[in-house]
Amino acid sequence: MNPDSDSFSTTPSVGRLIQHLVSVAVLLATIFITFSPRLFLGDFGATILALLTPQPVSDVSGAATRQAIRIGIVSGHWSNSEDQGAVCEDGTTEAAVNYKIASLAAQMLEAQGYTVDLLQEFDSRLQGYRAAALVSIHNDSCVDQGPDASGYKVVAALGTHDRNLANRLVACLTDRYGRTTGLKFHPGSITRDMTEYHAFDEIDPATTAAIIETGFLYRDYQLLTTQPGLVAQGVVNGILCFLRNENVDLNFRP
Ligand SMILES: [Zn+2]
Repeated sequence: MNPDSDSFSTTPSVGRLIQHLVSVAVLLATIFITFSPRLFLGDFGATILALLTPQPVSDVSGAATRQAIRIGIVSGHWSNSEDQGAVCEDGTTEAAVNYKIASLAAQMLEAQGYTVDLLQEFDSRLQGYRAAALVSIHNDSCVDQGPDASGYKVVAALGTHDRNLANRLVACLTDRYGRTTGLKFHPGSITRDMTEYHAFDEIDPATTAAIIETGFLYRDYQLLTTQPGLVAQGVVNGILCFLRNENVDLNFRP
């Protein structure tokens, strides 16, 4: 037998080989679609972790689904007569600025179909509070602390059951708030009042929570008092990023 004749018997194998190649191509395409190019940049491990973390909400397409999703917004110092937060020389209080931003953010989220609770600083509903996300809105000092005292900061609730979800909420708020408002992240002014925020101890540990200080009342006064809608939109964009499981750079620091 001509040894070459063996080659004819391989014809069916060529078909199978093509089949395998197509399968591999489909698999590779799926991997590239599933995994973001960000995987190849920045903090690889953290990104993998975030992508592999079960997310609270995967289907937010239906109105009924959105209505079933509860979001809590704490308006910092609201209804706390003993502590209005920072107070400016013109009489503007942090509590009033927070309330404007928080109530606008609540309205925007409600307009999207979500169920929203606008909560007071020491709201009785915070005890055992359960929601897909809870965000407390505060602002920093109205005293001139120099040219660097501008910007925002975000801190997660350390007691959250799922640290990855808490990190995702912080990453979403940090990224979207910075991009929306143009303010810089100001990590140097994160205080124990933020990391040991009282509401974090009261809520259900299954609730993913964070506190955001949306700016400094002195240096960012114009933005905070004349554009509260933009400030609120920044917070809302961060919350929507979290709920919709949008892609986010975990290391983003504007
Ligand atoms: Zn405050």
